[in-house]
Amino acid sequence: MFDANLSEGGASGGGRSGAVLSGGGLIGPNAILQLLPVLDRFGGPVWRGGVLAEAGIAVPDGNAMIPEAEAARLHRHLRMVAPEAAAQLAREAGVETANYILAYRIPPLAQWLLKGLPPWAAARALARAIERHAWTFAGSGAFRVVTPWVFEIARNPLIAGEESEGCLCHWHRGVFTQLYRTLVAADCMCEETQCGAQPGAACCRFELRRAPLAGGARRP
Ligand SMILES: [Zn+2]
Repeated sequence: MFDANLSEGGASGGGRSGAVLSGGGLIGPNAILQLLPVLDRFGGPVWRGGVLAEAGIAVPDGNAMIPEAEAARLHRHLRMVAPEAAAQLAREAGVETANYILAYRIPPLAQWLLKGLPPWAAARALARAIERHAWTFAGSGAFRVVTPWVFEIARNPLIAGEESEGCLCHWHRGVFTQLYRTLVAADCMCEETQCGAQPGAACCRFELRRAPLAGGARRP
């Protein structure tokens, strides 16, 4: 019923599954590309250019998957140079990544069909589509749909080698929140309830839920 192509890397990226190149996995180029306009708005193009240069990042052309280690390096560097803003900036880049996917990778008819379904059915269909194309979000990591509202990524390459008390994967949160808000229900929110960077955690876990109504009431 729903076979949207969520792949970001264009034709050259399609069909790969956690591909490995020169000892490192690949991930969708939007893990870097969609961060660039966000950084421009935050600090200006000159500042953004400096951040990329310091992190040793060449801007990808968007036509192919990119080494996941490069995306991880940029996200890590951003946490170092803008610790107060990095989470919000990564989340905004995730929203922009979802908007790119919605504009170019999910056919309008499929979107129209999903929006006409009850949220539980739309979530089920969308989760299946995300699972089929998970390598664009998760690279060489192991992506798992626990339920249509809960995803896990083991060995998440964007946080490889990181240790943190708090959750780090705000880019993923932004991607999932925006896809669900657009195609499932406008009040969906994604939280990372456990991050693979936290001591003892086996994976990153993302939970989607619909926001409680104002005044503390909850939907049936
Ligand atoms: Zn995480």
